[in-house]
Amino acid sequence: MKREGLLALLKKTFGYSSFRPLQEEIITDVLSGLDVFALLPTGGGKSLCFQLPALAQEGLTLVVSPLIALMKDQVEGLQASGVSATFLNSTLSAEESKARFRGLYRGEYRLLYIAPERLMLPGFPERLQELKVRQVAIDEAHCISEWGHDFRPEYRQLAELRPHLPGVPFIALTATATPRVQEDIVRLLALQEPRCYTASFNRPNLTYRILPKDKPTEQVVRWVQEHPDECGIVYCHSRKATESVAEKLRAGGVSALPYHAGLEPAVRDKTQERFLKDKVRVVCATVAFGMGVHKPNVRFVLHFDLPKSIEGYYQETGRAGRDGLPGECVLFFSSADAVKQRAFIEEKPDPEEQRIAREQLQQMIHYAESSECRRETLLAYFGETHLNIPCGGCDNCLEPRERFDGTVAAQKFLSCIFRLRQASSFGVGMNHLVEVLTGAVTEKIRKWGHDKLSTYGIGKEHSRNEWQSIGRELIRLGLCRQTVERMSTLELSPEGMAWLKSRQPLTLTRPMRSVPRLNRPKIEGDIVCDEVLFGQLRTLRRELADERNVPPYIIFADVTLRHMAARQPATEEEFAELPGVGERKLRDFSGPFIEAIARWRVQRARQS
Ligand code: ADP
Ligand code: ZN
Repeated sequence: MKREGLLALLKKTFGYSSFRPLQEEIITDVLSGLDVFALLPTGGGKSLCFQLPALAQEGLTLVVSPLIALMKDQVEGLQASGVSATFLNSTLSAEESKARFRGLYRGEYRLLYIAPERLMLPGFPERLQELKVRQVAIDEAHCISEWGHDFRPEYRQLAELRPHLPGVPFIALTATATPRVQEDIVRLLALQEPRCYTASFNRPNLTYRILPKDKPTEQVVRWVQEHPDECGIVYCHSRKATESVAEKLRAGGVSALPYHAGLEPAVRDKTQERFLKDKVRVVCATVAFGMGVHKPNVRFVLHFDLPKSIEGYYQETGRAGRDGLPGECVLFFSSADAVKQRAFIEEKPDPEEQRIAREQLQQMIHYAESSECRRETLLAYFGETHLNIPCGGCDNCLEPRERFDGTVAAQKFLSCIFRLRQASSFGVGMNHLVEVLTGAVTEKIRKWGHDKLSTYGIGKEHSRNEWQSIGRELIRLGLCRQTVERMSTLELSPEGMAWLKSRQPLTLTRPMRSVPRLNRPKIEGDIVCDEVLFGQLRTLRRELADERNVPPYIIFADVTLRHMAARQPATEEEFAELPGVGERKLRDFSGPFIEAIARWRVQRARQS
């Protein structure tokens, strides 16, 4: 099919008038029978890469998906757009499965979502040719790798399908892939000379912020209260914290529920469903709440605790703003959390595992404390550079931290390390060093005679916290370092030594301010519209969704609703122009929404 044909199909079925980056290339390759490996960030529009080819050609598209909830969601979404799709998994009765099979043999469906274990049942692969399978899409393809975070052994057998489907292209899609996972996907799925596509991992519609963690529960409650009507996730480390934060939110008038692996599966499913259907506004969760969350209108992701790695942090924050509208990511950080986590790591039995965990934590701490662009630090982790800075969407770019002449402070700090090393045969940790600088009177200082040093008490102009922050910045600048053994001690680096001798001026950054900025930046993806009308349209959407027992976003995405509230279409023709309105949704839903807009106009005219 030619470009015009694909675009027409895109508008007719899904209501979009252009492709997202790489979608068109991927779709064209799949349609010409090539294997494809697609690495697109969350919200990048992966589904469309196999859904459009499914409609552009005859026959059936198989979609392998790891989660039952996701299958149902995608099938409902397709059906709402008038696409005939179905799924097969263990939740169906024998009766229902049979009925769906009959439909498959009659060629009634364009897409079949299927769990890998169902697909590989004895006898099933042999029957695929009869079903006229023309394309196999493997969603969440990282599940095939033990190195990924959601390993599914059943994914390993998928390559055995190939002999049964000669000439049928395989398309593997994921949002997670370190090189090792990527290699596993290509090899273990036996992709043949695949075309590989990698989109930028930048999420321009997300804003990243760090706030100093002080009274975290109150901070979270206040933050959520200041963002009324928005849905979000609060990630916590412990099950107990998910429960207590949810409780405090409820006490503060916010509908919130906890989610963690210790809850009954039925309770967890119910919570997830309530969240998807906008019936509960906030879920306080451990990382167990993850892959199943394809809710497009998650507006914020808060981290109550320090994540264990940048990769995990990126995945978790990535659940905000799937729909392309602005999303806020806030991490509450205290160095006490870092210390706590280090202690956890020391309890791990395997030294190699410890080493990796320490390194990952160090990167995370660096991210949290750095005064550089957050987005730049995140993307550098994935090997991406050349970003426009200031990025316009992180705290450090929006409100650059105050800088000061830190020459004297750095001299005091570094020479104190030097003197301590000279005086004792052992190194000391950050706490002790800061106590020496500030002239504290402690047992250890007296015992070791550190009160006799020339650097004892020379740093009384800064508080202990300030010295800690100065110390951490000097570590980041590479002038000194913290050893990674059990009791980490400070030492000068060769650069630090050289700097002490040269005494060049040095600029340092003041610690973060604890007052968050509340006004929102103008961030990519924002659609300005009348908020009152938007609220009314949202209520209508929820009624329509409840009648059909589907999540509201199946009817229309928030993006469509905001465009609707901005453009206020009065006719079907105008309504059809909205992004996300294809033929089927125009027919099914334009009536009630156009009426609601008309009613609102009258209402507003009366008021003015
Ligand atoms: P992913 O699976 O990569 O996270 P999805 O397939 O769920 O992303 O798509 C994210 C959102 O983007 C969905 O709401 C989808 O309808 C929308 N979308 C996909 N392709 C386009 C497009 N070409 N134009 C506008 N919106 C799109
Ligand atoms: Zn930035």
